[in-house]
Amino acid sequence: MWPDDKRWVYSITYDEGCQALLDNALIMHRRYGVPGHVCLVASQVGVPRDVPGSSYDGMMILSREEIDMLREEGWGASCHGMTHGTITEENWREELLDSRTLLEDTLGTPIPLFCLPGSNHHYDAVLAHAAEAGYDGIMTIYDDTNHRPIEPMRLCRVPLHTQYPGPFFSAFDPFKRIHQAQALGGWIIDYCHCPMPGRPIHPAKDCTLEQLEERFATVCAIGGDEVWLAEPNEVVEWVLRDAGR
Ligand SMILES: [Zn+2]
Repeated sequence: MWPDDKRWVYSITYDEGCQALLDNALIMHRRYGVPGHVCLVASQVGVPRDVPGSSYDGMMILSREEIDMLREEGWGASCHGMTHGTITEENWREELLDSRTLLEDTLGTPIPLFCLPGSNHHYDAVLAHAAEAGYDGIMTIYDDTNHRPIEPMRLCRVPLHTQYPGPFFSAFDPFKRIHQAQALGGWIIDYCHCPMPGRPIHPAKDCTLEQLEERFATVCAIGGDEVWLAEPNEVVEWVLRDAGR
């Protein structure tokens, strides 16, 4: 079903690629052997984030050198737009195509995946031009496990959060979608931004560092030898190769 007879797949992505990942999340990745992935705004690598209104505005973003170091540890990267703005028929070349070219030049590596900035509201505009802009896949925030046959152009991600807003105030669940992925041979892509010790930067956009560790420990305890801990670019590459066989 998956390479090496794995039964299901687990990935995690960090939108924006804040430098603070190095002081916090990276420790957990090394401890549990999970590769990470950062979704980068192409025009904002190695500089403070400039997206006014964002909970992460002003936070330092990873540099090329720091991303190189993470890539050597198995991490991957994707494009999160040129400006993090809404993608339209008017600006898609800049936000999808020019951004990918810039990010590939900045990082010196191919960027096969696009990650929707903000929300799913502009998914249709992105889908309409993603292939032309050179992408093999789109990561969204539709909350689901990816079931086979995997649709690379509509990859769902599972928000890993401390608490969602009302009316349900959904609490953190380290088991979220694991049994579904296990039963159906699916692929979980967790989504958060920058887990910090003790308190999340934003309760609906992040978990804490302690919750991240609980999530990794749960994935590893339940998954054992049956889970493929993989980075999304690698999984999409495998899916496309498998489809072509
Ligand atoms: Zn974002």
